[in-house]
Amino acid sequence: MYKSFCLVKALLLFIFFSPTNGATRASILDKTPTLMEREGVSETLFYGEIPGYQIHPITPHDEKYNHWNDRPTSELGQVRVLVLHFTHADLDRTLSLFTTPSGEVSAHYVISETVTDSEVPGGVLFNIVPEETRAWHAGRSAWRDITCDTVGEISRGLNSSSIGIEFVNKGCEGDTSRTWFPFDKSQIDVGGKLVKALASKYKLCPYNIVGHSDIAPGRKIDPGVLFPWGRLYEEFGVGAWLTAEELESGVIVDLAPREPLPRGISEAFFLSEMKRYGYPGIPDGASTITPELASYLEAFRMHFSANQTPSGLEGPLTDKDMKWVWLLNTKYPRE
Ligand SMILES: [Zn+2]
Repeated sequence: MYKSFCLVKALLLFIFFSPTNGATRASILDKTPTLMEREGVSETLFYGEIPGYQIHPITPHDEKYNHWNDRPTSELGQVRVLVLHFTHADLDRTLSLFTTPSGEVSAHYVISETVTDSEVPGGVLFNIVPEETRAWHAGRSAWRDITCDTVGEISRGLNSSSIGIEFVNKGCEGDTSRTWFPFDKSQIDVGGKLVKALASKYKLCPYNIVGHSDIAPGRKIDPGVLFPWGRLYEEFGVGAWLTAEELESGVIVDLAPREPLPRGISEAFFLSEMKRYGYPGIPDGASTITPELASYLEAFRMHFSANQTPSGLEGPLTDKDMKWVWLLNTKYPRE
């Protein structure tokens, strides 16, 4: 790992300082001269055993740079949630967006994907915003009881209480018939390690490792249906998930569910269980999945009951959706 990191670093340094470096060379450096001229992808970063780069330094007098502000010193500023995203843009564009003053978006970490002909390999970690500061990645959002972010003029959301990780990924194309793009092994290998390290460092509850779509249903769809939540759980032990055994056997039923799973489909039961699990935007007493609430069902399916199965995002509520939410609330009970 160290060896390959040195290789990457050497490659980037070579590109940066090469006298032959010119407009014909398609590289991150050519496409983002502002970033490179100002600070460079400069300081080496090691997060545990994960190698990468730090966009550094961030100077206090240039408060727009890197799009961050202070976390509140109150309890609100404590990291309780990890929000995973896809960028819907390539690495160059992402780094540019996150570090130039024109936009108001950023994240703490970006993980590159494997792209043919790219000089930055997949699975390279970029630290854009220091963890102790507040990045602008969540926007208007809510999760469980974490809804009261009133810092600055930014819309209410989870930025103060969270860390944002962006996986470089094209996301999806099309509206009615969507095509999703898979994540590659190298970036999930690094992402899994990073999530594990952060979960341990901040003592995060498994259910507080979420997708952007979970905290902003209807507004956001990332990291999408192909994000491998099951792999993160199985290989890195992070996040909330149900194994095939837990879904199919009586393992969890032995944990004494709060109430039995109703026979047949009940939208009212599903919605109240979803709200209990962590989606506070569902109105109390909601009994039917209205067009407005359909985005909640989709968010739930992307993360859980239809994960890795885009075709499963369509259609009415199923037994599988019902079972997933009921078992999640049994495995991760809310006090
Ligand atoms: Zn996002």
